[in-house]
Amino acid sequence: MKDCIFCQIVQGTIPCARIYETEDVLAFLDISPVIKGHTLVIPKTHVVNMLDLPGSLAGEMHLAMQKLGQAMMDGLKAGGFNLGMNNFKDAGQLVMHAHYHLIPRFAGDGLSLWAQGSYRDNDEMQKVAQEIKSAIPS
Ligand code: 5GP
Ligand code: ZN
Repeated sequence: MKDCIFCQIVQGTIPCARIYETEDVLAFLDISPVIKGHTLVIPKTHVVNMLDLPGSLAGEMHLAMQKLGQAMMDGLKAGGFNLGMNNFKDAGQLVMHAHYHLIPRFAGDGLSLWAQGSYRDNDEMQKVAQEIKSAIPS
């Protein structure tokens, strides 16, 4: 897609630090890393978010991320890694070309990803569960 920065990265018209690619998947360093080594994994074809991502392509991305996660542990001596994906604007998606964030983690790096909350009581928890369950197509 013409105005998409990640499509331009795939085409090579915008430079990036490429790490790994297959025929359908590209991985490169995020320009503003949460932790150095923070990598973006994208489909080479323009897909907006996870809801549009075909299962076969998601499977290829999963295989790439297994290799990349292990490579972060072996190459950067990371102790682990986080995997994340922002879908839609309200979830913080800024680039509308589907991408996973793969973030290497180190003991004591101080990064805190999730500020956790709580339910008022079990009734509220069950109600929220039901709202999601009832919307799952059979
Ligand atoms: P989002 O908020 O959409 O999940 O994340 C988009 C990510 O793309 C951000 O972490 C941002 O730093 C990264 N990004 C945006 N523009 C570029 C770019 O031109 N090159 C690279 N390598 N990363 C970019
Ligand atoms: Zn694109």
